[in-house]
Formats: sequence, structure tokens, C-alpha cells
Amino acid sequence: MGSVAVAAPVALGGAPIDEGSARGGKVNFPAIHAGTERPDAPPPNQAPPTRRVGFAIMGLGRLALQNILPAFAQCKHARPVALVSGDKDKLRIVAEQYGIPASSCYDYASFDQIKDNPAVDAVYVVLPNALHHDAVLRAARAGKHVLCEKPMATSPEEARSMISACAKAGKKLMIAYRCQYEVYNHELAKRARAGEFGAIQFIDAINTQNQGDPGQWRQKKALAGGGSLPDVGLYCLNTARALLGEEPEEVQASIFSPQDDPRFAEVEATVTFMLRFPSGIIANCATSYSAHEHRSMRVLGSQGHAEIDNAFAYEGQKLRVTRRDGMAEASTELTLGQKNQFSQEIDHMAQCVRSGATPRTPGEEGLQDQIIMAAIYESARSGKPVKLAPMSRPDAFRGPMQPEETS
Ligand code: NDP
Repeated sequence: MGSVAVAAPVALGGAPIDEGSARGGKVNFPAIHAGTERPDAPPPNQAPPTRRVGFAIMGLGRLALQNILPAFAQCKHARPVALVSGDKDKLRIVAEQYGIPASSCYDYASFDQIKDNPAVDAVYVVLPNALHHDAVLRAARAGKHVLCEKPMATSPEEARSMISACAKAGKKLMIAYRCQYEVYNHELAKRARAGEFGAIQFIDAINTQNQGDPGQWRQKKALAGGGSLPDVGLYCLNTARALLGEEPEEVQASIFSPQDDPRFAEVEATVTFMLRFPSGIIANCATSYSAHEHRSMRVLGSQGHAEIDNAFAYEGQKLRVTRRDGMAEASTELTLGQKNQFSQEIDHMAQCVRSGATPRTPGEEGLQDQIIMAAIYESARSGKPVKLAPMSRPDAFRGPMQPEETS
């Protein structure tokens, strides 16, 4: 037997996140396991469909169809209500699959009419990188909040103009840094910041994949903005910054692209970069479009270290913590409850739209990565370290996580 409580769910800054679930109450079950077992997660406290934040998905490519749209099934505060695509057949098929009416389907020419669709609160931009800027400006002009895929843009200038367009429209802008909403990365950051490994000395992050098909947009500079760095190297950069809360004061980088490989006629293959943080911590990062897939993150402190296998993958994360245990060295593998990181990220945006809170990964988070990536390219070009402007305080622009996201 369960019990029903009517306490309002807690939200960012204490504001109620969802009147619907507060009014409807919350189901609770008594514990069935001993206190020595891990407690059951509470039943999801989800908003009724009509009270969820409505998202339009713009660009029905691989990520949208394979990951984002399916992830809405596990969202508690968001639902897909509109689609935007240049492909009529795909639009019809996907609209049928997700029960989206033809009146809420747009192509790129008719997209601006979305301003008259009250079901759409936010637009999720899932287009090739160079098209993010224009799409975000149009969504803001239509009076919609925006969740934009990474990399935010192809230059710091574009990123700044996206931030100011959303600010001018009074709308939220969040960048889809899914790893910041992924439970293993979140747990590692929490433990590192709590001092569990002593003083952090060093971070080591690698994200590589071997690209096929010469000719895809990821290999065209005009559409991608760059190669492995903005696509997958960005995860190393963003995750290191987010884990520490500090911003690097200097970067030094090297780039290699084989000259006879048509995949790298316009964009780079391999980048290694070192970030030096004001506390003295050094992050060594490596990314490649020509090395077999590998996605790992390691944090080394004065009293222990921890690493995540598949740190930047969609699933399959493993977190190992290694420390002294008496006269032994002990390595522990942690198993956390599974949560879909795309659902977590979309729900975070939905809750920020509802509560008015700043997202954990706002536009400024994306801008900072664009500034650092520009410095990485500059360092690789010049062969010299490049200095970066200091940041006034840790986590200078990041909003808080929801209590339910951190448990
Ligand atoms: P795809 O190539 O699979 O899809 C992009 C879609 O954008 C196309 O299917 C098309 O949709 C639309 N589009 C509009 N104009 C163009 C154009 N000129 N060229 C190509 N496509 C166009 O890319 P992904 O889905 O893999 O990537 C999209 C975005 O998501 C990128 O910014 C990427 O960096 C990001 N991404 C993020 C990931 C993450 O883990 N967070 C993982 C993968 C990608 P339509 O036919 O409907 O118009």
C-alpha cells in the first residue's frame, strides 16, 4: 500500500515547480528493505501532460530521432509538441510517431509562425553547428525559450549575439551539455569538490572517435566550424571546467591532421590541449576524429584518484575511486541508479522555464567554451601558450541543480 502526501515538491530557490503535481499530491511507499540496503528511489513525481513544458524539436537528424525524442518518454516535466524539418516525409512520419498534429509541424521557411503556437514554450535546436546561431535568434524573436545543442556556435561572436538575443526577448537560453546532467559525472564532480580525493592536482580527459564518410557536414568547416575539437573535444573541456568550477587562465595546444586524408581537408583530426587553472590544477585533454572510440575522464588528487570509463558516452559509465585503506590500496567501483542523461537535461530546462531559475548550463557556459576553443586554435597555430581573462568567482554564471537531480 502506498500513501499520498500533498506537500509541494521542492524546486530551485524553493519556488514550486509544478502546481499540477503539488495539487495532485505525491505517492510514497514505505521502505521494504533493511536500512543497510540502498534505499529505493521514490516514484517519479511527474507533471500531468497538459502542465509539462512544450518543446519544438528543430532538425530531425540522428540525435533528435535516436536520442532526444525517445528521451521525452522518461521526462517528468517536458513533452514534445512541435517539429521543425526540411524533409516533408520525415516530418509526417515522426509527427505520427509522437502524436504531433500537422498544425504544429514547420519547415525552415514557415518556422517563424511558431510564435503563434501557444503549446510551444521552448525550441530545442538540433541542427548542424553553424546553423545554431540563426535558429536561436529566430526562436528568441518568436518569443520562445531555447535549448541549443553543443557546440553552441562556431565563434565567440556568434555566441554573444545568441545570448543577447535571448536576453532581449526575456527568454532562457540553455546549452545542451548533457554530461553535466549525467549521474556518474555529477557524482565525480560532487566528490572532487567535497575534497574526497584531497587537493586535486591533475585531470586527464580523452574523447576520440574514428569518423567515416568523407563529405558529411561534420567535415565541412562552413557547417561544423571545426573538427574533433568542437564536436567531441568539447566534452573534455566542458567537463573539466564544470568539475572544478574554475576557469582556465592559460591554454597550450597542438593539432595534427594527415594531409592525404580527405576527411581532414577542411577540419582538424587530432587535438591535444592543456588547460592551466588558477589553483595550479592542470587538465590534459586529447580528442581525435581518427582514433578508435575512447571516452575517459580521470581526476588525480593528493589523497586518491577517480576515473569514469565511457565518461562522455550516452551510457555505460563506470566510476572507480582509488584510495588508501589501512595498509592496502583500495579501488571501489560505484554503481549508481540509472537515469537517462537526455531526459535529465531536458527536464532541467523545463524546470528552469517553469521556475525562472538560471540553467546550470546557460548561454554564458557555451560562450566560455567558444572563447577557450578559439584560444586552443590560436595556441596550436602560434605554437605558444595563450592567456585567458580571469573569472571573478567559481561557477560564475552557472545556475543551481534541482534537489531531485542531485540525489
Ligand atoms: P545530423 O546530420 O544527423 O542531423 C542534423 C539535421 O539538421 C538534419 O537531419 C536536418 O534535419 C537538419 N539540417 C538542416 N540543414 C542542414 C544542412 N545544411 N545539412 C545537414 N543537416 C541539416 O546531425 P546530428 O543530429 O548528429 O547533430 C546535430 C547537432 O547535435 C549538432 O550540433 C551536434 O554537434 C549535436 N550533437 C550532440 C550530441 C550530444 O550528445 N549532445 C550528439 C550528436 C550531435 P531535417 O532533415 O529534419 O531538416
